[in-house]
Amino acid sequence: MTATTAFLVHVALHTPSHSGVGDLLSYTCERPLPPGTLVRVPLGKREVLGVVWDADQATGELPEGASMRAIAGVLEGVDPLDAAWRRLVAFAARYYQRALGEVATAALPPQLRDLRPEQLARRLRRPGKPSAESSEFAIQNIALSAEQESARARISAESGPFLLFGSTGSGKTEVYLRCVQEALEAESDGACPTQALVMVPEINLTPQLEERFTQRFAGRFGAGAVVSLHSGMTNPQRLKSWLAAHNGTARIVLGTRMAVFASMPGLKLIVVDEEHDPSYKQQEGARYSARDLAIWRGREQGAKVILGSATPSLESWHASRPSTPEDPEGGRYVRLHMPSRIGAGALARVRRVDMNQQPRRAVFSAPLLQAITERVARGEQSMVLLNRRGYAPVLHCVDCGWKSDCPHCSAHQVFHKTDRTLRCHHCGFTVRVPPHCPTCGSPDIHAMGRGTEQLEEQLAALLRNVQRPDGNPARVARIDADTTKAKGSLEAQLAQVHTGEVDVLVGTQMIAKGHDFRRITLVAAVQPDGALFSSDFRAPERLFALLMQAAGRAGRDAAYVAAQGTESEMWVQTYHPQHAVYEALRRHDYEAFAAQQLQERRDAAMPPFAYQALVRADARTQEVAQGFLSAATAAAHAAALPGLDVVTLFPPVPLTVQRVANVERAQMLMESSSRAALQRFLAAWQPVLQATRSQPEHRGLVRWLVDVDPQTI
Ligand code: ADP
Ligand code: ZN
Ligand code: ZN
Repeated sequence: MTATTAFLVHVALHTPSHSGVGDLLSYTCERPLPPGTLVRVPLGKREVLGVVWDADQATGELPEGASMRAIAGVLEGVDPLDAAWRRLVAFAARYYQRALGEVATAALPPQLRDLRPEQLARRLRRPGKPSAESSEFAIQNIALSAEQESARARISAESGPFLLFGSTGSGKTEVYLRCVQEALEAESDGACPTQALVMVPEINLTPQLEERFTQRFAGRFGAGAVVSLHSGMTNPQRLKSWLAAHNGTARIVLGTRMAVFASMPGLKLIVVDEEHDPSYKQQEGARYSARDLAIWRGREQGAKVILGSATPSLESWHASRPSTPEDPEGGRYVRLHMPSRIGAGALARVRRVDMNQQPRRAVFSAPLLQAITERVARGEQSMVLLNRRGYAPVLHCVDCGWKSDCPHCSAHQVFHKTDRTLRCHHCGFTVRVPPHCPTCGSPDIHAMGRGTEQLEEQLAALLRNVQRPDGNPARVARIDADTTKAKGSLEAQLAQVHTGEVDVLVGTQMIAKGHDFRRITLVAAVQPDGALFSSDFRAPERLFALLMQAAGRAGRDAAYVAAQGTESEMWVQTYHPQHAVYEALRRHDYEAFAAQQLQERRDAAMPPFAYQALVRADARTQEVAQGFLSAATAAAHAAALPGLDVVTLFPPVPLTVQRVANVERAQMLMESSSRAALQRFLAAWQPVLQATRSQPEHRGLVRWLVDVDPQTI
């Protein structure tokens, strides 16, 4: 063999074995390829997608007999991913303790992984959309309120990041639209026109938003200027949107958390709407927070960042604290406040029903039922929230005490009456409802507790004789994950609510978010207490945000409310009416709630006053899972790993739902007052965890993973 002249490239790709963080594989190629080039490379017997991460400057003279493999092809027609994108991916991989190649490939649309270069070339040759050249078309803007204008002006003048703290219906979206417009009209400093990224928590909110943005901007910036990116799209659609963002045809990307990784070379503005929403945290693979990455990306790429919410996360609230004499620095974010609602009626009056005073086992207290009845009779709509789907959380035998436990999980199987099944919501295991108790044969088996199915059924029965103004009987409908499985069914059901066919809408938190129902004047949470006593310290924060958001669904149309002569109400049925969460809700006082919660967090040295990470271990037995974590902890101490002096490692414990699909789960918490120290420690611990895993006594370990800044404990 003679020496060959070739160029060397170091490629990020997803290797199935979870090999260390940050490693690249080297390949040869015939011509120099700039970093960011998408390539296909051989890996074992397969061919996979990779991103050129580094390239050697000079021509490499391969030694004789070198066995390095050549790349299989270049994805021609797709410009290399720019340095800003690569830095974002590298940061995310490092921070969330995952392999670079895994994060890089997961950040790309799935079809790029599957298409061969020729197929992609064909895809790229298809006639594109009309050019995104700006036209003279004037954008129709509505006059901003004083609060909106003041927020807009400060976002325009300052560099941020901004926390837009605005009540539901205060017109935050209108502020986003104006800021997006300003960003898009700005002179571009590169080859790519300026771009904006707008993120929302739920897929089902993107169509509404897309319509609003398209209406505003398509005339001016072209029909293809607004694209979506979320997991509800088909792979070809996602690829199309991604390419449009990457090459600058798309000026605005609307998406869910995954959109934070969109390649947008002209990015000038990032909006994170409902920034407190837990769905911004990815729950598998690299467990990134799209909100936190948005802040990082904005700073790196020189884009402004706006986080918006009526109930900000306590992290963002704390980060936006104003400076005081004791705290002259203040927070890193600029807080902008919009307390007034626009075009909407007054905030819903909060009514607490003390369930201690109600007949035992009453689902609907008499006053709540009365209030709903009156609204139906007046033609108004109500919304009833219960965060548990199915008919009942468990079936139970009166004679022997049998319960419908899932055989594979430490959880009950939920009773679904519609199709008479028992379903495990953790592993999916489903059986038909048994006619008799499987243990003692007794026919006396009963549903315990209630879910949305039961609520819908009971409410329909209770409102049986109630008529709407048009003489028709009251109509109750339900929206939750079970009724919306089929594609398009959610849209269809929402449409029924909008057109007024439905009088009472029953559902899970899915219905509390973002929807702009015009005729809802009553919202009720029938059983919200569970979250008050959760072991998760964020549960009260979540509950408060959910109830505030739900309350915001009522009375959104001031003119309607006035014409009806009605008052919009938020009802809460509770055994703890004096609880701080409900007190703050009653006064719509997020600030008081946040102050109280932050005080507790400060006293207990919890986030945002400390930083946390979890390591979770899944194994055949709980002993193996915990044994692995204990051994890795001992090894960390033995090696006196960096950062350990300021990082506290807590002992391993089983997860709340300890067993899922026959796998035992344990986790351990790490906490530090220093984010940097925690990061240093995690980086140093990673190889120790790997090494511990390969020891024979931990053979029963199925997997382990790290969750940095976990959102659920
Ligand atoms: P948020 O996102 O804060 O909940 P939206 O931006 O959706 O609020 O605004 C609530 C409603 O008020 C929408 O129907 C919107 O069209 C309307 N709106 C917003 N700003 C104005 C304004 N300046 N003048 C009139 N109506 C407005
Ligand atoms: Zn029995
Ligand atoms: Zn199960």
